[in-house]
Amino acid sequence: MDFAFDARTEELRTRLLTFMDEHVYPAEQIAEEQRARLASPWDTPRIVEDLKAEARRQGLWNLFLPDAAYGAGLTNLQYAPLAEITGRSPHLAPTALNCAAPDTGNMEVLSQFGSEDQRKQWLEPLLAGEIRSAFAMTEPEVASSDATNIETRIERDGDSYVVDGRKWYISGAMNPDCAVFIVMGKTDPDGEDIRRQQSMILVPRDTPGLEVRRAMQVYGYEDHSHGGHAEVVFDGVRVPAANLIGEEGGGFAIAQARLGPGRIHHCMRLIGMAERAIELMCRRAVARTAFGKPLAQQGVVQNWIADARVTVEQLRLLVLKTAWLMDTVGNRGAHTEIQSIKIATPRAVVGILDQAVQLYGAGGVSQDFPLAELWASARTLRLADGPDEVHQRSLARREIKKYL
Ligand SMILES: Cc1cc2nc3c(=O)[nH]c(=O)nc-3n(C[C@H](O)[C@H](O)[C@H](O)COP(=O)(O)OP(=O)(O)OC[C@H]3O[C@@H](n4cnc5c(N)ncnc54)[C@H](O)[C@@H]3O)c2cc1C
Repeated sequence: MDFAFDARTEELRTRLLTFMDEHVYPAEQIAEEQRARLASPWDTPRIVEDLKAEARRQGLWNLFLPDAAYGAGLTNLQYAPLAEITGRSPHLAPTALNCAAPDTGNMEVLSQFGSEDQRKQWLEPLLAGEIRSAFAMTEPEVASSDATNIETRIERDGDSYVVDGRKWYISGAMNPDCAVFIVMGKTDPDGEDIRRQQSMILVPRDTPGLEVRRAMQVYGYEDHSHGGHAEVVFDGVRVPAANLIGEEGGGFAIAQARLGPGRIHHCMRLIGMAERAIELMCRRAVARTAFGKPLAQQGVVQNWIADARVTVEQLRLLVLKTAWLMDTVGNRGAHTEIQSIKIATPRAVVGILDQAVQLYGAGGVSQDFPLAELWASARTLRLADGPDEVHQRSLARREIKKYL
């Protein structure tokens, strides 16, 4: 078993690490300052556009897309260590490289299932980083972790479909650059096969009847850098029938295909967040003294740091194994491992960030250090893209089935 990265990955890692040092970390403070001066906090700070231009110039662009016709053509195993590096600055680096959710998943859907016209109209500007997009599935009125509950209606009417429903926590939708929504809803609510009732449809933001109503908060944060998480109402929204993605009833299958890569990308970035937390813990521990000695000399602090290191090494190995399986046997073959990392990574990284917060004292919960916001962001990943319990249920059932 060879644990080394291949030559292309190493070369890209070196370039990306330099890009982070020279451009991304210095931009973190500037982005905040620029955002504070914008007419709306949802607008994109100038420095983000500068970072995008620089990343593109350096060839650090669309690294997530395995299809070489559209992106960098990297395998999941090659992309994993790069996504991890971007996770160290999760509010800037993924966007700078055009590798941010939910655009990544939406680009994958369009590249795999979109018609030629849909790819031209939406995929091309997304690949160029000219527009952003959102994915609208979750609804406040129903338990949306069970996608069969979705109530939004997509009804055929002549040459159009009419969309009616209410969604929330739609990431990215507060950003005015978010030009298009991929909406999941029911085209055949009474269909016998509950997995064939749903479809996905493209809804341009400026379609009459679409209202981005308000920004939902995440533990009090509005998550400006990710374009927020909006409540969105679709009231008699009429779009051409050609906006349907794939076939009627294909929504469930597309959602499954979309979520595999999305989940592993989150886990890769979470490991980067944990690495940042360990770095911050060590820096603080050597710099701060209490009761006559640096915090770094307290056994309990050493235990936190050691345990965090052990946890990160374990998680990384599992994520890399999952990436390798996705490359070699496909997303279906890697089902158990994808669920394992989706269960294990957010939970463990939340724990590491919590300990980093503790080490920083009041500073840890403050706005002066990134830890509190990183914690809130990691915590949401125990819910987003499927709550822990749903993955545990399905993984356990597969394990148990072997003995029935
Ligand atoms: C920050 C953030 C961003 C998000 N971005 C998006 C987005 O861009 N687009 C989008 O469509 N959605 C998005 N979501 C929504 C997210 O995907 C849902 O919150 C998630 O799927 C859970 O659905 P729900 O909130 O309706 O919870 P529910 O389905 O009501 O579930 C509530 C709880 O019930 C328990 N539960 C559910 N099923 C089971 C089970 N089988 N066994 C045991 N316990 C169970 C779990 O503990 C679960 O957390 C986002 C959420 C957050 C917090």
